[in-house]
Amino acid sequence: MERSSTYDVVVVGAGFSGIYGLHSLRERGFRVRLIEAASGVGGTWYWNRYPGARCDVETTDYQFGFDERIVQGWTWSQRYAPQAEILTYLNYVTDLLDLRRDMQFDTRVESATFDEDATRWELVTDTGERIAAQHCVMATGSLSAARAPDIPGLASFAGGCHHTGRWPHDGVDFAGQRVAVIGTGSSGIQSIPVIAQQARELTVFQRTANFSVPAHDRPRDPADEARMKRTFMQDREAAKWTTQGVFASWVANDVSALDVDDHARQAEFSRRWAHGGFGFFESFNDLITDRDVNDQAAEFARARVRDVVDDPTVAELLCPQDHPFASKRLCVDTDYHATFNRPNVALVDLRATPIVAITPHSVRTTAAEFAVDSIVLATGYDAMTGALLAIDIRGRNGVGLAEKWSAGPVTYLGIQTAGFPNLFLITAPGSPSVLSNMISSIEQHVEWTTDCITYLRQHGQRTIEAESDAERAWVAHVDERASETLMPEADSWYVGANIPGKPRFFMPYTGGVGSYRRRAEQIAADGYAGFVLA
Ligand code: FAD
Ligand code: NAP
Repeated sequence: MERSSTYDVVVVGAGFSGIYGLHSLRERGFRVRLIEAASGVGGTWYWNRYPGARCDVETTDYQFGFDERIVQGWTWSQRYAPQAEILTYLNYVTDLLDLRRDMQFDTRVESATFDEDATRWELVTDTGERIAAQHCVMATGSLSAARAPDIPGLASFAGGCHHTGRWPHDGVDFAGQRVAVIGTGSSGIQSIPVIAQQARELTVFQRTANFSVPAHDRPRDPADEARMKRTFMQDREAAKWTTQGVFASWVANDVSALDVDDHARQAEFSRRWAHGGFGFFESFNDLITDRDVNDQAAEFARARVRDVVDDPTVAELLCPQDHPFASKRLCVDTDYHATFNRPNVALVDLRATPIVAITPHSVRTTAAEFAVDSIVLATGYDAMTGALLAIDIRGRNGVGLAEKWSAGPVTYLGIQTAGFPNLFLITAPGSPSVLSNMISSIEQHVEWTTDCITYLRQHGQRTIEAESDAERAWVAHVDERASETLMPEADSWYVGANIPGKPRFFMPYTGGVGSYRRRAEQIAADGYAGFVLA
């Protein structure tokens, strides 16, 4: 039965972005409805229940910082919190802020159309509901549109076949099984060591070796937790102005690797490798811009693989050779490389012997047939645009977002796109988003959006829309900053290379969280320069 309702704002998605978006707008007195396809809150942490799933930005940074009550009322167990704990935390926040009464689950938004006469968005859901709202906030996630590979015969597989980003809620029992994992990005690298301990045999199908830094995960010391709580609010404030929106995970070394001698350079690499996590990426300020420095970091990381892996042939296969260090999203692991020393684990190099088919009971490559009982697809996402373009979004004159973005996603600040008034995108292409501590970036986007919608109400304006010129200039700026780095060289999901036919377009903003925030705040202070208010 078709039902309809009207709100000031509709928020789509109940991950970190949607949870804070709903709260922030409701606090300003707006009538808000949140729509979520899943049966509960959590977003990434609702869907990704695969073995070993956890954050790889340290928990101290990877949490909300907008309300001290949340920080004081929650205690984290690990340096990198496991998925179940983050999901419990997000349910705790939802209940603490009494958000559930304005959330609607098991409902997927299928279309969103801007009604120019009524100046509002009309959404249609898969439950047949029509929802009208003056503003629409897409908190649909940068990494939420799971992507299964187009391998012939995949649908014929008779055993269990699970994508890491759509993991069964009651878990998967791999005991006694022969398991195939396809994919060696962050999800594969986190799950492989754990699945190896559960399965009888594990075969890892690797197309591209990835750089991975050890996590050195450990339980949190209560004294550290107490210290963190005492200074969290001021530390988080300082983190807002850093390159990646962190204060605990790592400290950037603002020194060129070219200004220190070889001994000092290796010592810094070693120190950061021993500390664990993303800090290695910030060993020097030119690691991602200077090829020579990058090569040295890459060689350091490859040497660590050779240190750990017993079989030299396997070690070489696990050494990334075809892209600059950290030009694909850096992975953070616990015992990933050492897992290949286990007698029950084998590595298949898909560059040499690609998969040709999946049969009901096997994975077949050009060289061999591997009989398996289960397949794990750690094959990633249609990142940054996938969830948005899965919705039929139509702006002025009925123009579709898919049509507007046919050559790549163009936005102003990664928040709005011209021709789509009152449509706010949280951490979309053109913003630092996936290159940062996402929680820091999400909070900034939600707060900017809330202030913007409040400003419209205060100034008696019904719509805000990015100007085409401002958008063009921003896209050029994003492109220019990306080209100062080695990042666009890799065939990564940052450029859409993992999705056949997706236009190659470096999507995230490499200019850093702090400078981005300054710019966004200035634009707001200037009466939303580059936007048309009507
Ligand atoms: P999501 O959490 O993706 O939530 C989006 C929600 O929108 C989903 O629940 C989805 O069901 C819903 N949705 C989408 N489309 C529709 C629709 N049409 N109708 C209704 N609902 C819809 N980032 C970090 O900074 N640090 C980390 O350590 C880190 N670890 C990660 C680990 C994994 C396994 C993955 C996949 C990502 C990780 N990320 C990490 C990125 C992570 O996605 C973000 O940190 C953050 O959780 C994103 O929150 P979000 O609310 O923006 O999006
Ligand atoms: P991903 O980084 O895109 O990795 C997907 C893997 O699957 C790649 O190794 C890819 O190979 C391979 N693959 C894809 N299609 C294939 C095919 N047809 N045949 C063979 N191999 C194929 O995806 P992800 O690992 O899910 O990670 C996505 C992002 O989510 C991460 O980069 C990160 O931002 C986030 N994440 C974070 C964590 C964390 O540690 N907290 C964990 C998981 C995810 P190619 O490289 O050759 O394409």
